[in-house]
Parts: sequence; structure tokens; C-alpha cells
Amino acid sequence: MIWELPVVALRNMVIMPGVTQNIDVGRPKSKRAVDEAQGADRRVLVVTQRDATTDDPMPAELHDIGTLAVIKQVVRLPDNTYQVLVETQERVKMLEQVPGSYLRVRVETLDKQPGNPDELRVIIQETKSAFEEYQRQNKTLRLDNYQLEGIKTLSDAGTLADQIAHHATWTLEEKQAVLDAGAEQVRLTLVLQNLTRDLERFNMDKKVAGRVKEQMDANQREYYLREQMKAIGKELGGGEEGPAEVEALREKIEAAGMPDEVKEKAFKELARLERTPGGSPEGTVVRNYIDWLTDVPWSKRDEEILDIVRTRDILDADHYGLDDVKERILEFLAVRQLTHKPDEVDAEGNKKQRTAEERIEDSELRAPILCLVGPPGVGKTSLGKSIARSLNRKFVRMALGGMRDEAEIRGHRRTYIGSMPGRIIQGMKNASVVNPIMLLDEIDKMSSDWRGDPSSAMLEVLDPEQNHTFQDHYLEVPYDLSQVMFITTANSLQTIPRPLLDRMEVIQIPGYTMPEKLQIAKRYRLPRQLRGHGLEGRMEVTDAALQRIIEEYTMEAGVRNVDRMLSKLARKAARELLEKPWEGVKTVDAEQVPDYLGIPMFKPDRMEKEAQVGVAQGLAWTSVGGTMLVVEALATPGSGKIIMTGSLGDVMKESVQAAVAYLRKHATEYGADPEFYKNTDLHVHFPDGATPKDGPSAGITIATAVISAITGRPARMDIAMTGEISLRGRVLPIGGVKEKLLAAHQGGIREVIVPKDNEPNLQDLPDSIRNEMTIHTAANVGEVLERLLLAAPVQPVSPPPTLSKPASQAGASS
Ligand code: ADP
Repeated sequence: MIWELPVVALRNMVIMPGVTQNIDVGRPKSKRAVDEAQGADRRVLVVTQRDATTDDPMPAELHDIGTLAVIKQVVRLPDNTYQVLVETQERVKMLEQVPGSYLRVRVETLDKQPGNPDELRVIIQETKSAFEEYQRQNKTLRLDNYQLEGIKTLSDAGTLADQIAHHATWTLEEKQAVLDAGAEQVRLTLVLQNLTRDLERFNMDKKVAGRVKEQMDANQREYYLREQMKAIGKELGGGEEGPAEVEALREKIEAAGMPDEVKEKAFKELARLERTPGGSPEGTVVRNYIDWLTDVPWSKRDEEILDIVRTRDILDADHYGLDDVKERILEFLAVRQLTHKPDEVDAEGNKKQRTAEERIEDSELRAPILCLVGPPGVGKTSLGKSIARSLNRKFVRMALGGMRDEAEIRGHRRTYIGSMPGRIIQGMKNASVVNPIMLLDEIDKMSSDWRGDPSSAMLEVLDPEQNHTFQDHYLEVPYDLSQVMFITTANSLQTIPRPLLDRMEVIQIPGYTMPEKLQIAKRYRLPRQLRGHGLEGRMEVTDAALQRIIEEYTMEAGVRNVDRMLSKLARKAARELLEKPWEGVKTVDAEQVPDYLGIPMFKPDRMEKEAQVGVAQGLAWTSVGGTMLVVEALATPGSGKIIMTGSLGDVMKESVQAAVAYLRKHATEYGADPEFYKNTDLHVHFPDGATPKDGPSAGITIATAVISAITGRPARMDIAMTGEISLRGRVLPIGGVKEKLLAAHQGGIREVIVPKDNEPNLQDLPDSIRNEMTIHTAANVGEVLERLLLAAPVQPVSPPPTLSKPASQAGASS
């Protein structure tokens, strides 16, 4: 019989047929499977993974034979996992995967293959008595008399095999083997063999214990333990640490291609290992250490392909646009290529690798380190991957975000139990070659505290003069990192420690415009998502739909959420395809987007565009890209107090003072009461008050809001602005112009004011922005106000402005 079942993959258990068992389900796909089953006939396939460490197993990574189970109860635990009570029925074999966003497979039930009845009877009898003995001797078995009697009454060979395998304390592999084996007779024989083997082991244990007792001195506990260990070692055949094992390690050390100094150290440790009794904790520590020494690469390297044309092709194939960035990367690689001397080849054609010292001498190592800076989701990581692919080098990524302990980089000394090398050496082990590309992600997010400063260790890692003798506390021997090519990424340059920044060649990726996002979605992300969900050739998404997804469902500088939305859409469609299959190619147009993604989260036209008193539209720059920032000011009769709220930094407070100072001088020009600073209280507020904000670039926005509030002249809200203000009213240049204008454009603003001195930056703007927006420049506040302030209404003091508005995300600095 054929079934179609959702799959719950098991990491560390094998569930036999005919049992009732609780399983913890935490992985999203498995939870989906449970949800789906509950909505249908409650049947699932429970099947064990071949490798418990696989997080998201594909069908090929699962065992072929699993168990059909019926869900009896699901308890949702507070940590968001499910505890699922299942009752298993029969063994089934997996046939093929059914497309969809969670794992679902077709399975067939397996026929019984009756064996020779006479033989079976004997095997059943023998197995039952072996199990009774096993149960008596195995202290860890949890089985009550009732269960035992139940097993003794079984007359079906298959059921007996399943029940015993269920209770026995066997490894996953052993249990799976019982599940896998075909005929009933074979399965039960396997069970009997395992039981017999275990019974022999128990006897052996007793012998060991007996021998130890004879030799034991009652007062010497430690001595007893050592003797016990030795006795076990003897029983396992041979000396203290098994000679075969030592020999294998010796070969591994010889084969690792270590420098002499390291090899010497490794052999010394090996000698120590031979002296320590097998199985002792100390032996484990030494063994682990030797394993690490032999597992990190010492000389194996990938042959690099230095071909600028190839690199360009690969960068282009993987990434849309980013022309300047690609150009800069190619220049960087070209310089590296030109300064890179090839290895010398000797008479026999063997390559002689030059030492790090020689390469330092040639100044080849002094090349700066590439640092890709930009908001999340603009492709920094994926550019790093493409560079590695194009150079034919391995790629390893290391997240530095939140790292605050030097030991994370350099590891812990071996004296600590469970100590390990630091992340750099771990990364090298993963790379398995000495010349990978190592991407150090979010280097701006490392922090330092009393545990030590990871950035100084990072400095050593990145310094070509020092990193050929990198010191890891665990490894103890120096490790040569000089052939690694490091690429770093950051969201913002501001928090990168200066000495680190000095080593880096910074390439900025500012964020994408709407048309760029559309192309990326259309040409790169959508095809990939459709393929990944088995929808290739069955579904199309129109440009209008993509545009709507980008504009109404995401608000970001990069394309990460766009990708997420496309994945959500594909997931829904995949499910739909299974439930109500359609013919040919289905087209998703803009109107259908909400069917898949729900109601839009952002409406481009939600901005308040009416001119208002005491409100001004600013632009800020944050580490996640540009953002809109509204400033509100309220003037009330009073005694000249200034109140500021909304988590303002000092620099912003100074901007408020500068605005007031400017207005005192020019009060009459703007129709303000010259005595306003004595008889008016001023309240300046930045909505979204909990987010800390600082930086000078809100200067002219603050000035506009303040002056509008005091004069009662409404300020236009359809113009956004950015610029620092001096005491005398000059408008000073600011950073992040492109990011800010992208944000304004995305927010539906089409007119902006930027400082006159920022004019050169306008050349970097994409054409689409330049053509669609009117960009004014201003050299002093007067010009700004002239454009923004409307004629004064009758009322001299402003009505309270509305305290509303979306506004910035995390940590805005303007
Ligand atoms: P970052 O490291 O900057 O946060 P990622 O490299 O993780 O960003 O990029 C997020 C996703 O967007 C990736 O799948 C990446 O391939 C894709 N992406 C970003 N920029 C582009 C681009 N210009 N062309 C094609 N895909 C892109």
C-alpha cells in the first residue's frame, strides 16, 4: 500500500513499530509536518537521520526505512517546541519526495515474509530466554514485570524483534539495523545476536571487576581506579593506549605536512599519550589535542586562479548592478595579482613555496584588507563568496557580531576542561587548506569589556607582519595565517576601531534603488526561489507584482526581506499546487500579491504631505541604511525654557541651541517676536522617542521646526532635508547623502534640500533618483527657510502639532 506522509526526522532515536512514545519536535519543518498531519489524518512518518548533526535533512540524508505513526497528542511547550505523543504502527519504506515547503514523502508498507515455522519457533524461544537474562543483568534497562510478561507472551517474530529492540540499550545503528532488515526471521536473528553479544560483555565486566578486587588495596581509591582502567585496557587487547591507535596517530602526524617544530611537539604529545592509561581523562585531553594539531591544515592549499576576466564574469553572473563596487574589487585583485610573485619551480618541476618572511620582504603581504561596508542585505557576504569562487579558493565565514572575549578568537589554554582552539583556528580546520578566503562578518559589532578586547587580537590576525606566527592559546604552536585572504564586512565605519580601519580598503555599498531591487528580484532571487520550491516552469510573477512586493511589503536598503517575501510566496504557491493542482503556468499579478503575502505592511503614500506648523521632515543615516526622521517643535507662552525629548544626543541638543541663536539674530526677518527667547517655552521632540539618535546632520531640520513653531509659519512636509547648521546659520556638509536620498525616494518624497558643499556627492546618485527627484542645495539656513516656510497665519503661536509619524528604526544617527 502506498501512503503520502509528512516527515518528522529524528536525530537521536529510532522508533520501532508497535510502541507509544513521546518525541520532542523543535525544528520548523518538522513542526510544519506535525501541523499538516493534525489537519489531515494525523499520520506521519517518523524516520531517523543518517547523521544526527544535519539540521535540515534531505530525504537522502534519512534512513530508507522508517515507521508509520499516528499522532495521539500534541503539547505545545513554553519554549515553542512540541511534545508529540505518537503510536507507531508498521515499518514503511520511503519511495520519493513530494514537492512542497516541508518534507513530505511517498512510502510503501512492507509485506511480511514468513520464514520456516519450525526454525522460527526455536529462535523465538531462544530470544525470549536471552532477553530475560539480559533484562536481569542490565541495570540500566527500564522495564517492569508487566512489560516483561507482555513480551514473553508474544508469538509473532517481527513484533518480538521490535519490542526487544525498543527496550534494549543499543546504539541507534543497531536499532536501525533491526528496523532495516527484511524478513521477520532475519530481524529476530539479529536481535538474538545482539542479546548474546551483550550477555558476553556483561560476563566480561564481571571478570574485570573480579580481577581488580583481588589486587585492590582497600585504602587506595585512586590506585583502584587506575587498575580498573588497566584491566579494561587488557581485556580490550593489549597495552595501555592501544598500539594500533598510536600507530594511526603517528601516521596522521607524518601525513599532516607540519613544520618541524610542530611535528616535534606532536610527537612529544604522542609519547605522553602512550604513557597515560587508556580511557583516562588525561588521555582524552592529549588525544583531542593531537587530533586538533593534525586536523588543521599546515601545507595543503588550493591552486589559485588569478584571472581578472574570469572574476569579472563570476561577479557579474552572481550580482546585478553594483558596477562601482565590482570595479573596485577588480582593481583590488589586479593590484594583488601584479604584486604576487609566483612560486619558484625547481629543476624537477616541484614548486617551492616561499616563506612568509620572504613574502613580507617582497612587500607582497602588505596589501590592504578589503572591507565591504553597507546596510544588511546588499550582498556583502555573497560578494565574498563570489570572489572566493572566482579565485578557486575555499570560503569560510566567521561572524564577529557580539564577540566580546579575546578567547573566542584565540581559544582557551588546554588546562581548562573542554577547551578548544579559537574561532580562527576552527575556521582554518573547516577550510582544510592554508589559503582560504575568510570573511569576517560584522567587524563593527565586536565589543570589548573586562574579559579582554577581541579587536586587539583581530589586529594581530589582520596584520601581515604578525599573522604568520598567530598564537592560539589552545594550539600553543604558532600558526601561519599569511596565506589567508581576509575580507571584512561592516554596517557602519563609525564603530570600527581606528587601527583596524587603517588596515582596510573600504568599499561602500550604499543600498539599492527601486528599479535595481526589481531587477535583482526578477533576475536573481525569484528564479532561485521558484526552483527551490519545485515551481520552475509552473509559475510566473509579473513585474508589477514584484514592484508591489518591494514597495508595500518591504522597507529596507538591501534585498533580504524581498527575498524572504518571495520565499513566502513560493511556499504558499507550492502548497496550493499540491492542494489544487493547476495546468500550465500560473501568473501572479499585483492584485494577487495580498492572497499570498497578506495585507501590505507599508503604503508608499502614507506620508503626511500637508504643510504644518512646528514639524519638519528630516533624513537620517543609520547603520541599516537611510531613514526618514521627523522633528517636532512646540512653542508655548512661558519663560524661555527649552525642553528636548526623544533620546537626543548632545550634538543634536547643540543643533537646537544653534537654531535658537540664529533666530534671535534674525527674528524680525521671519516675523517672530524679538523677545521670544524670554517669553516662549520651546519643546523639541523626535518621535520614536526610545531610539537613541545623535549627529549633527539634523541641524537644518531642527532649525526649520523650531523657527516654524515660534513664528507660527507652517513648514512644507513634502520637502525633506539634511544638513548641519553653524551658529551663524551656515549649512555645512554631511555624510551618507546617497543613502538618505534613497530613503526619501522610497518614502515617496520627490523634493529634497542638501548642503551646497555636498554637491559633488550628487554625482554618485543613480540616474533613476536624479531624474525623479528635485534636489536643491543650500549654503545657509535662510535659503532653506525661504523654500520651506509658508506665509504666517493669523495665529502668532502655533497650534500643537500632531505627535505621530512612522520614523526611524534602530539607533538612528543623523
Ligand atoms: P549582506 O551580507 O550584505 O547582509 P547578503 O550577501 O546576505 O547581504 O545578501 C542577501 C541576499 O541578497 C543574498 O541572497 C544575495 O545573493 C542577494 N543579493 C544582494 N545583492 C544582490 C545583487 N546585486 N544581485 C543579486 N543578488 C543580490
